[in-house]
Amino acid sequence: MIYTVALIPGDGIGTEVVAAVKPLLDDTAERAGFEIDYTEFDWGSNRYLQEGSMMPDDGVDQLRKFDAILLGAVGHPDIPDHVTLRGLMLPIRKELNQQICKRPTVLREGVQSPLRGYEGGDIDFVVYRENTEGEYADVGGREHRGFEHEVAVQSAVFTRKGTETVVREAFEAAAERDGKLTNVTKSNAQAYGMVFWDEVVEEVGQEYPEVTVERLLVDAAAMDFVRRPEAFDVVVASNLFGDILTDLGAIISGSMGLAPSANLCVEGDAPSMFEPVHGSAPDIQGQGIANPLATVLSGAMLFDDLGEVAAGDRLREVVDEQLADASAPRTPDIGGDASTDDVVMDLRARL
Ligand code: ATP
Ligand code: MG
Repeated sequence: MIYTVALIPGDGIGTEVVAAVKPLLDDTAERAGFEIDYTEFDWGSNRYLQEGSMMPDDGVDQLRKFDAILLGAVGHPDIPDHVTLRGLMLPIRKELNQQICKRPTVLREGVQSPLRGYEGGDIDFVVYRENTEGEYADVGGREHRGFEHEVAVQSAVFTRKGTETVVREAFEAAAERDGKLTNVTKSNAQAYGMVFWDEVVEEVGQEYPEVTVERLLVDAAAMDFVRRPEAFDVVVASNLFGDILTDLGAIISGSMGLAPSANLCVEGDAPSMFEPVHGSAPDIQGQGIANPLATVLSGAMLFDDLGEVAAGDRLREVVDEQLADASAPRTPDIGGDASTDDVVMDLRARL
């Protein structure tokens, strides 16, 4: 079996981790009896600085025919973040109908959490974030800055379809895991979108009597991510809240460099996109010390999505084994002094 994968290394450490991890993915695939045929796209900030756009006009259409997409990271200190986001990631997520962003949050054995008293195995939950609308959507023409630029208006859009899709997927996950779903909103302050969201959760929940639903306001959820992270199993949240909470989740599970994510297209046959949660990290770019494990674990989610779950499991297994081994190489963000390549080489040897 040969799968086609669009590879977008992007910027900064994104290009470093993708280049390092690619041979490991190939090794894993070969052992599991399949092949990956990559097509690389040099989209991102350099293209923007030279040509004025992050990707070509028909960029999203070029991606459509692939089985999956692997993205490093995009971002550049000289380009405003909203230009980066709107020039590449948001159009891909939206036009390829990647309605769900799934982010597992796991404190692995051998990794130090900044939370006192927490060790490997204590934190293990997954966040389902709505990925194409909510607070990141524009209602054509309503957003504006007015009154001589003294007032700015920004709306949010919650559709039944978008909300129900992510909520249903979260319930499915909870039913398969420990049967607990935490619904994060801010319904006390945002009485339209968020109350609607809560109603959808209640409705869909009728179909999952085996799942217990807990409702948390986002401020309380942020507190509980730190105070009692062991209490979470599956978390469902809007685009903005999910974004914020998953950075917090990445840090409590040891490092931004360990957190994978999947942008999932669950309806239709557009490809899903896999990427580390972290950004291009210009502060450590070019030093060869970026942690590649977030990208390795994103690759494992990509394999799962292709139906090659055994290969995904194998990757997670060697990552677990490496982290649990105190003498194995690790990058500085998790307390070591090894390079990106050392870590990947060690994983390839463990395979
Ligand atoms: P974005 O704007 O997309 O959020 P960013 O460039 O601000 O991206 P983040 O991903 O938010 O970067 O990461 C914040 C910091 O965490 C980085 O500046 C870097 O020091 C550290 N970091 C992130 N990813 C890694 C990694 N893979 N390995 C080591 N350190 C990392
Ligand atoms: Mg960031």
